[in-house]
Amino acid sequence: MPGADTKRDYYEVLGVDRAATRDQIKHAYRQLALQYHPDKNRDFGAATKFRELAEAYAVLSDDTKRKEYDTTGHAGVSERWSADDLMRDFQFGDFFGGRFGDLSGMFGDLFGRRTRPGAGAARGVDLRYDVELTLEEAARGGEREIHVTRSEKCRPCGGSGAKAGTKPLACPDCGGTGQKQDVKTKKDMRLVTLTTCVRCQGRGQIVESPCPLCQGSGYQFIPHALKVKIPPGVDDGMMIRLSGQGEANANGGPPGDLLIRPHVRRHPTFERHGDDLYMVQSVTFPDAALGRKLRVTGLGGETLQVMIPAGTQSGTALRLNGKGMPKVGGKGKGDLFVVVEVRTPTDLSERERALLQELAKLQQSRSL
Ligand SMILES: [Zn+2]
Ligand SMILES: [Zn+2]
Repeated sequence: MPGADTKRDYYEVLGVDRAATRDQIKHAYRQLALQYHPDKNRDFGAATKFRELAEAYAVLSDDTKRKEYDTTGHAGVSERWSADDLMRDFQFGDFFGGRFGDLSGMFGDLFGRRTRPGAGAARGVDLRYDVELTLEEAARGGEREIHVTRSEKCRPCGGSGAKAGTKPLACPDCGGTGQKQDVKTKKDMRLVTLTTCVRCQGRGQIVESPCPLCQGSGYQFIPHALKVKIPPGVDDGMMIRLSGQGEANANGGPPGDLLIRPHVRRHPTFERHGDDLYMVQSVTFPDAALGRKLRVTGLGGETLQVMIPAGTQSGTALRLNGKGMPKVGGKGKGDLFVVVEVRTPTDLSERERALLQELAKLQQSRSL
């Protein structure tokens, strides 16, 4: 693993100035990431390059992390955040069509597979996946197939990264420990500094003939089609957890989870507030004054009757019980509110104008 001392400067990785704005950083990352994305670029080293880019972006796109990096460098960042932490709040989805899950798995080994003290066997990295739903789909719920590409141990080389028939060799520089000791004696103190071995990047092993499938990385990207149950009434901010469907753990710990986050699109007619729906219905001035029965179409396409009472003011919300969104967990439904908007007539015919003038006169005389 690249040690803190051998890693390239994040600004240099993204090719931006230290004073770059968030947008400039985002732009630079996007350009480079598209170029080195492992789905697109099969060149040797593209995956490594891509990881370097994404790590740099994860840090520089977050104000807190960027500040820490600016003051303490790589050492400070890797001290404060594990690879999991770095990727947790980071949205690749913006760039790669929601396929966030594909990429976060590459980050398991960013900082040398650090497990936090006392955490026990580390779980694999959780994957996140954003699912976009129409309001109708959110109301109906049901099954949805999603495609997630997870990194898994490369099968032909068993994760070693070495070509079939060959084996990784113990690194001669560090004797297979992955670390180098630097001993200095100062007065009567013996100072031992441990640094990551540059040659093997901390692996303790070097691969002389890389496995052609994984290019020596030891992992493969395997696409999976998974079925997700969307509960009726699902809303933004909820999380659907598929236990054990995240990244495998390299050290034999349990796999992470797959976290599905629904995003409900805005609807042209219905506005959602919790479990209630609102729609605007325009009515003519005479209808609002005299009252009438109206038909509206509900979210599921059903025809609903609304009674507009005589003398209804513009902006009045009429409640249709139980015609809103299903409550998650099957506890009934919210309500539908039909908000009345009284339309002022335009393009009056002569007859209509005459009638309105007569009405105006009557009302004026009444208010005298
Ligand atoms: Zn070494
Ligand atoms: Zn392989």
